[in-house]
Amino acid sequence: MGESTSRTDAPSDQQTQPLNPDRWRSDFPILAKQIHKLPLVYLDNAATTQKPRQVLAAMDELYESKYANVHRGIHVLSEESTDLFEAARDTVCRLLGGISREEVIFTRGTTEAINLVARSWGDKNITEDDEILLTEMEHHANIVPWQQLAARTGASIRWIPITDDGHLDLEAFNTMLSPRTKLVAVTAVSNVLGTINPIEQIITTAHAAGALVLIDAAQSIPHTPTDVRVWDADFVAFGGHKMLGPTGIGVLYGKRQLLESMPPFVGGGGMIRRVRKEGFEAADLPDKFEAGTPPFVEAVGLAAAIDYLQSVGLESIADYEQQLATLAIDRLSAIEGVDIFGPPAAERAGIVSFQIEGVHAHDVAQILDRYGIAIRAGHHCAMPLHLRLGAPATARASFYFYNTPAEIEALAEAIEETQKVFRKNRKK
Ligand code: PMP
Repeated sequence: MGESTSRTDAPSDQQTQPLNPDRWRSDFPILAKQIHKLPLVYLDNAATTQKPRQVLAAMDELYESKYANVHRGIHVLSEESTDLFEAARDTVCRLLGGISREEVIFTRGTTEAINLVARSWGDKNITEDDEILLTEMEHHANIVPWQQLAARTGASIRWIPITDDGHLDLEAFNTMLSPRTKLVAVTAVSNVLGTINPIEQIITTAHAAGALVLIDAAQSIPHTPTDVRVWDADFVAFGGHKMLGPTGIGVLYGKRQLLESMPPFVGGGGMIRRVRKEGFEAADLPDKFEAGTPPFVEAVGLAAAIDYLQSVGLESIADYEQQLATLAIDRLSAIEGVDIFGPPAAERAGIVSFQIEGVHAHDVAQILDRYGIAIRAGHHCAMPLHLRLGAPATARASFYFYNTPAEIEALAEAIEETQKVFRKNRKK
């Protein structure tokens, strides 16, 4: 392999170090920004995360001194770009537990990775007799591609219900599995409830019934160590922008024999071995699924992000974010008129969705913005879940390792102020 942006001195994730956010915050230029003359409190990390200088520098360096299209030119710049791109693939292999390079497909994001499976594997393997199991807590990215597949093939979609405290109903799941079940597509962490799903258990159960499993890991891989082979997942999808990386880059992991058996999804340059007037022959993995000029600068940015996360320590990140979630849930649930959705803090990631009685979630987000606090409001691309919750919209605070306990206190105080404003308005 050629030159890599990897930091070889990054400590491993074996030891859990207590995390001090102040050690890392100065790497993120945007965190020093003022919003309405107040310090930015960025609590919208489930939507996307901020970028450290190291990620921006890795991409700048490629553009400034090594940039040319990958794989095609026999000249120095093209070789340098290609080496960096393929080194980025190696970095992803290590992140996911030492998988092989053929099993890492670069996509434009989580959404595209799931669509690739639905189109390629789905169209080849799914018929009208088959069932696909989804859960009530899925993001639209893990719903719509399967609905489209069902519309093309006549297959049925069935929904694994959630319990009132925001867990998957695993008893119901067990009874839903049958020889008709061909795929279970489930999120590792809910982007609304923060629920951490028991992925290994779900996969073991599904495999015993003969079904494959796709994991939407968009909200888990950025926050916790992951070994996809320990999971024994068949497909895993995630994206770069929720893990300090740039937009426009994502990853599909697939077991090699599955990917080998699947036809290409997008056709074009780069994914062929040979093209004749009569037809084409697809390239080997992973190129078969990477048509066109791939997002190689973004892949290099993602690799720098992975190096950075590993230097912080993903185990420490997971522990720290659970502490932040605990703090947020304790503090917010003590405020009268605030309802929090989802499981207890100990069983969730750093995502807290809530409602304030009598105040629409959009108004909450708008008022918090006046305090420099960025949260998200709406259905968070999980409309079936919001129907199940009986709430058309929720307000969502979501954390990353650069958030601090003081920011959670600022959130709580701003919520209290919001309630005061609305109480005053109601009295008028
Ligand atoms: N799945 C989940 C659980 C998500 O939270 C998101 C992003 N909101 C997506 C999929 C879509 O990810 P991407 O932006 O990488 O396509």
